[in-house]
Amino acid sequence: MGLIVQKYGGTSVGTVERIMRVADRIIEYKNAGNDMVVVVSAMGKSTDVLIEMARQIAPNPSAREMDMLLTTGEQVSIALLAMALQQKGYDAVSLTGWQAGIATESVHGKARIQEVDTARIRSELQRGRIVIVAGFQGISEKGEITTLGRGGSDTTAVALAGSLRADKCEIFTDVSGVYTADPRVVPMAQKLDSISYDEMLELAILGAGVLHPRSVEAAKKYKVKLVVRSSFSQEEGTCVEEAADMETGRVVSGVAHDEDIAKITVVGMPARVGTLSRLFNTLAGAQINVDIIIQSSYDAAVTNISFTVSSDDLVRTLDTLAAYQEALGFDKVEHESGLAKVSIVGAGMITNPGVAAEMFQQLAEQDISIKMVSTSDIKVSCVIPAEQTSLAVRTLHTAFGLDVAEQAVVHGI
Ligand code: ADP
Ligand code: ASP
Ligand code: MG
Repeated sequence: MGLIVQKYGGTSVGTVERIMRVADRIIEYKNAGNDMVVVVSAMGKSTDVLIEMARQIAPNPSAREMDMLLTTGEQVSIALLAMALQQKGYDAVSLTGWQAGIATESVHGKARIQEVDTARIRSELQRGRIVIVAGFQGISEKGEITTLGRGGSDTTAVALAGSLRADKCEIFTDVSGVYTADPRVVPMAQKLDSISYDEMLELAILGAGVLHPRSVEAAKKYKVKLVVRSSFSQEEGTCVEEAADMETGRVVSGVAHDEDIAKITVVGMPARVGTLSRLFNTLAGAQINVDIIIQSSYDAAVTNISFTVSSDDLVRTLDTLAAYQEALGFDKVEHESGLAKVSIVGAGMITNPGVAAEMFQQLAEQDISIKMVSTSDIKVSCVIPAEQTSLAVRTLHTAFGLDVAEQAVVHGI
């Protein structure tokens, strides 16, 4: 008996039949005496469908209207799930983000949750109701509806689990847990029984889409017991927790990839004190996230600066640089898209020299050219041509001894 927060992703609630199956699973927990708070995503690929409709109307629609549009997806699934539970004889109530007390910053498209006022949820629970909350949305202090960024329902679930002090937070998805690589790319990837918050955070930031990075950050901060598991089976999932055993056992715990990388080079920046800070403050002011940065100087007076951004931000980055060319004083901007980033992650790397060298050699043997590199204590990332992503991920997965004999099951739509 306890308080459990669950989250069901788009595939898990992709059809009416699946919503009925999810309702049955929630009922099992409820019958076992648990208070249930359930976060759901929009059905199937409906968020993508909404984005596509908006694009047909405007190439660059207003961010406010985009949030207004996208939050409707979750409103459909919460209402249907509440109806399914009521139909099966259980008292349930659906709540939008603002009804659930989720306050965010005043940013559209990728707002951070600032605080959760749990009063409404608690009072519904006290009345014996199953509470269904719309994922990925909240309200700003200006009273505007906001979204948390793609995949943000995971973060809604963890934020609720943290603020309600839930006994655990279960993320139900279309694979059986966190694997050593995306099982869609590496069928021989292995499911991990547990993984540390730090390793999971790296994997998520580096592209392992199974968890929204901010959900892992929040789980670590609020010590939420987080489990990732399949909504299509009863199989036990992966526990994301403080320093799991595997942290010491294995040098590389997983391989992640991100196929939407663009590289930008600012050519001929004046090499003065404060140059880098001026350039990157300008980009930060335009809400552009910069990743790998390389500075190369060819004489004392000028310098070239290369960095990566996500492909989605490429046009905005080029526009911002064009607008500030005179102020920043550079000659020109070059860019390259169609790139990917493959990364190996593992806490064991700290004490094992030569891991990066092994990665470079494995990629070289497959004729994969490395365009940029970045390292930290627990990861090495290489930027490569996007068309070689699968080959690179599979090669590294095998080379670092992660393959297993049995193929992973993926329940895509
Ligand atoms: P949901 O709609 O349930 O939130 P997502 O598509 O966001 O589901 O996340 C699940 C998907 O994450 C899987 O189908 C898988 O392709 C992908 N994925 C990427 N990396 C990993 C990994 N390391 N382990 C498990 N799944 C991964
Ligand atoms: N529906 C949103 C998306 O597709 C949020 C989520 O699924 O977590 O990104
Ligand atoms: Mg997701």
